[in-house]
Amino acid sequence: MKSSTKAIHSPAPIADAYGALSVPVYHTAAYEFANAEIMSDAFCSRVPLPDYSRITNPTVINLEDRICHITGASKVHALSSGMAAISNTMLSLASQGSNIVGSKHFFGNTYLLISKTLARYGIEGRFVDTTNLQEVEKAVDENTCCIFTEIISNPQQEVVDLRALSQLAHSKGLPLVADTTMIPFTHFSARELGVDIELVSSTKYLSGGATCIGGLVIEYGSMPEFEASMQEMLINLGSYMSAHNAYMQTLGLENMAARYALESANTMELARRLRKLPQIVKLTYIGLEDNPFHALAKELFNDSYGAMITLELKDRQACFDFLNRLKMVKRATNLFDNRSLAIHPASTIFGNFSPEQRRSLDVSEGCIRLSVGLEDVDDIFEDLAQALEGC
Ligand SMILES: *Cc1c(COP(=O)(O)O)cnc(C)c1O
Repeated sequence: MKSSTKAIHSPAPIADAYGALSVPVYHTAAYEFANAEIMSDAFCSRVPLPDYSRITNPTVINLEDRICHITGASKVHALSSGMAAISNTMLSLASQGSNIVGSKHFFGNTYLLISKTLARYGIEGRFVDTTNLQEVEKAVDENTCCIFTEIISNPQQEVVDLRALSQLAHSKGLPLVADTTMIPFTHFSARELGVDIELVSSTKYLSGGATCIGGLVIEYGSMPEFEASMQEMLINLGSYMSAHNAYMQTLGLENMAARYALESANTMELARRLRKLPQIVKLTYIGLEDNPFHALAKELFNDSYGAMITLELKDRQACFDFLNRLKMVKRATNLFDNRSLAIHPASTIFGNFSPEQRRSLDVSEGCIRLSVGLEDVDDIFEDLAQALEGC
């Protein structure tokens, strides 16, 4: 089966009592057992029965199992947010005195988690250009616990050569952790590219219609120690996904591949049309053949380039004027909603960063991030073009 089929037809571990076609939502905190022996077996993981919904829940397990089936993972943990997936993973891998060699172009909260929150516990972040192997290698030492990158940085859209980074990580005995939120796992295999732990903000492509927040930790079985420490985090930190959110995300998963195909086709067409407009100083989309990362992206992601366009306008005022004139495209954060969205990262996501921090993260004052939705491409273009007039 191909991944789009598996998203719909993954086998359920225990059949529903009533044969419900849509996954039942088990809104329950606890479970009753037929006898003390089975209860003990469940609590000690000798039988695959749920015991308490901070740790397992049938609706969440259904989502996790489907994603296991699609990705070939050894284990999938569905958590309450993308940040929960990232923080639980980092807390599993790191301990006092260790360092994380990560991307200098991390998503804003990932950067703050490592540079601020984890720093208070004696864990150091070393932020480097993960597209430059020499720079990564120089930052690694005996206290490094992992190499951590995003597959495509946001909003800069730099593509990381995961195969090369994985070779480097493995030559140092380290796991490669990759945040793959930017391309859905139905369209490329992080495992085949050498990723050991894949992290996803399922708030984005998976939930689709911006229905709820969620995160995934997808393990490929290359690090048995991680499996054990991740289980410890799950139980002790309590960030497991709720049954209701797992239900919403399962609905999203079933049509994610189809939505993505349309969104990425829309994005390619818009990039071609928008780049001709005079108000646009620079347009970045890795799907365009003259983009410096195009060839690498084509190889890694199977001719698939995501649904995000980065525009460079004259200055901050031009960006604000553009956003204020939009009639259909929504002024909102989030990515890969069914609706098209636009945001000015420097004044929002990175708004409380100092100008120096923004410069070091390469977030410019004239940058607009567009997330392309499912609307008719002519309607999206028309709205963007009228809002750009006079910018
Ligand atoms: C949104 C996002 C996150 C954080 O995910 P949440 O679900 O908002 O917690 C992490 N990484 C990337 C690349 C993201 O786009």
